[in-house]
Amino acid sequence: MPGRLYVTDAIVLSRFEYGEADRVLTLMTPGHGKLKAIARGVRRPTSRLGGSLEPLAELRVALARGRTFDVVTQVSVGHAWLHLRDSLEATATAWYLAELADRSLEERNAAEPLYALLRRAYELLDAGMAPGRVARWFEMRLADQLGVRPEVDRCVECDRTLEAGQRFRWVPPLGGALCERCPGPPHARTALSLEALKLLKAYQRLDVEALAALRLPAAVEREAETAMRDFLRFSLEREARSLGFLDDVRVGR
Ligand SMILES: [Zn+2]
Repeated sequence: MPGRLYVTDAIVLSRFEYGEADRVLTLMTPGHGKLKAIARGVRRPTSRLGGSLEPLAELRVALARGRTFDVVTQVSVGHAWLHLRDSLEATATAWYLAELADRSLEERNAAEPLYALLRRAYELLDAGMAPGRVARWFEMRLADQLGVRPEVDRCVECDRTLEAGQRFRWVPPLGGALCERCPGPPHARTALSLEALKLLKAYQRLDVEALAALRLPAAVEREAETAMRDFLRFSLEREARSLGFLDDVRVGR
């Protein structure tokens, strides 16, 4: 007996092949959060589901409740975001953001804000915004949603306002930037330039249009990237696997 049917928007976060012709998908949905679903026979050429059930798209999926996995019964493509796939860096970034979303979500808990955030990030990648800018924008808002907004205005130890002319360090375990007077933990040696600190502030304050228009030295963008990766690694406890792939893409371009 098939279980109760329901229909939802969904984005495929990850998938693996299962049995002879099936595929198990991790879906992110607005109302049901993250869930595992099985697409039976999807790898057969004759499958009705096959062509549509792809990642990097917003899907409309009909599911039947199952004991272990819910079962995909119908699927159509809502938004394909085809331009996103034109660039390998945009594609790799989209996978990285999907993985961050996956690791941030509990199964079966409603996740409207995070769903909307990922959807918007894919729209921006599709529209051609620089993948690095989209990724930092996403990471900063994800940190907000997780309740771990990094401190970039005041020293995380003494609460002094961070100002030009001082030197700063970036200490993710303490929650952000540290002033030059505070010792911090013994291994806290990662210097943060004033320019990178300003860029992190910009990611907290500016909207995407303003962020897309910024002109910055590549070194400052790399510094902000490292800072946000380190910060989220502490927040999410382990390094995202897809970062290795993203780095490979960059080296090869
Ligand atoms: Zn301090």
